[in-house]
Amino acid sequence: MPWPTINDDDVTRLVANETERQNTGLQLIASENFASPAVMEATGSVFTNKYSEGYPGKRYYGGNQVVDQVEDLARQRICELFGADHANVQPHSGANANMAVYHALLEPGDTVLGLSLDHGGHLTHGSPVNASGLIYNFVGYRVSDSDERIEIEEVAALAHEHKPKLIVTGATAYPRIIEPEPFRKVADEVGALLMFDAAHIAGLIAGGAHPNPVPYCDVVTFTTHKTLRGPRGGCILTTAELAGAIDKAVFPGQQGGPQEHSIAAKAVAFAEASTDEFKTYARQIVSNAEALAAALAGEGFRLVSGGTDNHLMLLDLRPFDEELTGKEAQIVLDEAGITLNRNSIPDDPRSPFVTSGLRIGTPAVTTQGMREPEMAEIARLIASTLRQRNDAAAVAGIREEVRALCEPFAPYPQV
Ligand SMILES: *Cc1c(COP(=O)(O)O)cnc(C)c1O
Repeated sequence: MPWPTINDDDVTRLVANETERQNTGLQLIASENFASPAVMEATGSVFTNKYSEGYPGKRYYGGNQVVDQVEDLARQRICELFGADHANVQPHSGANANMAVYHALLEPGDTVLGLSLDHGGHLTHGSPVNASGLIYNFVGYRVSDSDERIEIEEVAALAHEHKPKLIVTGATAYPRIIEPEPFRKVADEVGALLMFDAAHIAGLIAGGAHPNPVPYCDVVTFTTHKTLRGPRGGCILTTAELAGAIDKAVFPGQQGGPQEHSIAAKAVAFAEASTDEFKTYARQIVSNAEALAAALAGEGFRLVSGGTDNHLMLLDLRPFDEELTGKEAQIVLDEAGITLNRNSIPDDPRSPFVTSGLRIGTPAVTTQGMREPEMAEIARLIASTLRQRNDAAAVAGIREEVRALCEPFAPYPQV
């Protein structure tokens, strides 16, 4: 039978429109990046057609001779890159990876210590609307009032009080390095297992810009599409001791057939992340974040914790303009071609839907080749948009400035 010949003009047009949006605007969402053409080619490959429930050498269906090789390649590459005993590359997302770990290590109702959501933790670290919070008893640690950083003394006090079976560290909106070693010490003191959710910073770790948690943790989870710059997906690294339990929890515990096209693309991304160029990239992400944070401070914003040492920063909008909410800022900046997200700041007086803050990240703009001079320009454009937010003509003018700034850095110029 011939392939369908109907051209789907609707989707073709939408893909072109989205490419145009990504090429001509500033993508400052801290969890986003631009995947390489090689990663996207693998994602669009014939591996999408294959059912391969199980693991290499132990599949339920036939025909997995080649799939086994690609999944083994992905596992070997990521174990080598992070120095891990074992990898499971099948989780469809970061959330799936985390749920599989909980499924493997916990019973319903068990106590887990994690970073509070309103202080930078993730939905899967015990939000009451997420399965993690419904099934397990999460207790939250918080950043300190004084310097807005995680204090290991507070983590230790809560660990001794609540005796968690698992301690989770890692964050979704925290601008500082999280040292894994002190967490290991606390976990050992109370007999807890330790999981590091490196979803955001996996690329910084791979590139040597942040400490590697693998030697200190029982389990490390991460997404492959954030700073690591691969396809959308998740990954779990674990000790040899927990390998069997983790694999069983991913399949058959949480998922059915793995997405081998994504796994092939993960293998490509893991190879890309082990190069010297990627080390340079990871360092530049951090340098760009520092430069952007300094320039934004110069415009009158307050930086939560006073700055950043990773790929993101949290802006407190109140010193810039008491009336301006995160929600309003996000909307008007999007009109100017500057895409980022509103975010609660620690002890935010406004609701999580409104917020007093913005989260801004540099992974994507760094991938497209922007450096410190462009960061200064971005800070100026953000401040200028927000100052003139009630002037539609001024915002339209800034949209053109953003387009001009992005033009020489378009990530997908050939399209
Ligand atoms: C993004 C993120 C996740 C979830 O990843 P998804 O792929 O969106 O499911 C989990 N944990 C942290 C800390 C994250 O930032």
